[in-house]
Amino acid sequence: EQKLSERILNMSTSATLAMAAKARELRAEGKDIIGLSLGEPDFNTPDFIKEAAIQAINDNYNSYSPVDGYADLKDAIITKFKRDNNLTYKPDQIVVSTGAKQSLANIALVMIDPGDEVILPAPYWVSYSDIVKIAEGVPVEVPTSIENDFKMTPEQLEAAITPKTKMLWYSSPCNPSGSVYSREELEALAEVLRKHPQIYVVSDEIYEHINFAGGHISMAAIEGMYDRTVTVNGVSKAFAMTGWRIGYIGAPSWIARACNKMQGQITSGANCIAQRATITALEAPVSKIQYMIDEFHKRRDLVLQLLSEIDGFQVNVPEGAFYVFPNISAFFGKTLKGKKIENASDFSLYLLEEANVATVTGEAFGNPNCIRISYAASEEELKEALKRIKEALV
Ligand code: PLP
Repeated sequence: EQKLSERILNMSTSATLAMAAKARELRAEGKDIIGLSLGEPDFNTPDFIKEAAIQAINDNYNSYSPVDGYADLKDAIITKFKRDNNLTYKPDQIVVSTGAKQSLANIALVMIDPGDEVILPAPYWVSYSDIVKIAEGVPVEVPTSIENDFKMTPEQLEAAITPKTKMLWYSSPCNPSGSVYSREELEALAEVLRKHPQIYVVSDEIYEHINFAGGHISMAAIEGMYDRTVTVNGVSKAFAMTGWRIGYIGAPSWIARACNKMQGQITSGANCIAQRATITALEAPVSKIQYMIDEFHKRRDLVLQLLSEIDGFQVNVPEGAFYVFPNISAFFGKTLKGKKIENASDFSLYLLEEANVATVTGEAFGNPNCIRISYAASEEELKEALKRIKEALV
């Protein structure tokens, strides 16, 4: 009798996608569910980007592109890295992929040998640990606390390093906590890393523009880090292009060339129309997408205000992305409407069933005391959702 590989049997299903499926199921039963579980802007892709895609179709962009992306797209990415991050890359250091998720999978597959350890400050983005495991690496979670704004300290980093440590992966602004590492904080981490030259860094900057504090800093721009950092970015979040599936990296050329070789066997490169549209997106001044960032900022303030009116939610102030990550452990051990709440998964399920609001358990992000609430939803929906949550908890 045949069975599936150990690889897939050991992999967890994406918790965010599982929650979305459960919410869909309840909607099909006629329930009015407000979905705050997905990491997806509720805006449409801006018209000037859509027009570039239509133009590309009419210009007969229909053949395979170079595996690592069109040369003029790579030029646009190089200009963007210089403009926004003060990073200088050459074309052989850039690889365009089918979403930042594939960029991350490429990196894992080309960098990690079985048993290599990858440090993940927790909470981390839900897919990091499973992508690392696909490459037979070992995720090493470093729990951070809400008191420290969910950021890893240099002491915690130092303590997590072993002879097997190969990489550190983190996102800033962070999904799910919204935390943004300052220059001083990154410099302090870099100081530790400089003592351990074998460790490489993945700096996932996909929420770069959705930053309300201003001042996004790239790890590769910190002294001594350029040659050992892979900068990951993409257009899904800031440009409301999740379904277009374009992500990219800037990396030391030996790593970038390996990613190019890897995806040459797996995808042959990203969709050609989406690549053409991405040139237009990246060449536009950030002011063209500012209306979405301003809207997320307003909603962040609204959600923080409404959450502060509910007993039992402890929150930090997220400075970027579009999530809040409240600690709800005050409810553990309580019985609400006959349902015992033992952990964050119970709590998230309770909100789904009793408040008709879909959130995601923090367990999926490596923090079992929190839930993630996405505020990429209309003000009206957010107000209604928080009202229902408040009512379900009295
Ligand atoms: N990295 C982080 C931190 C994310 O939140 C996401 C999407 O949720 C991704 C990467 C993947 O983005 P993409 O749509 O480009 O694959």
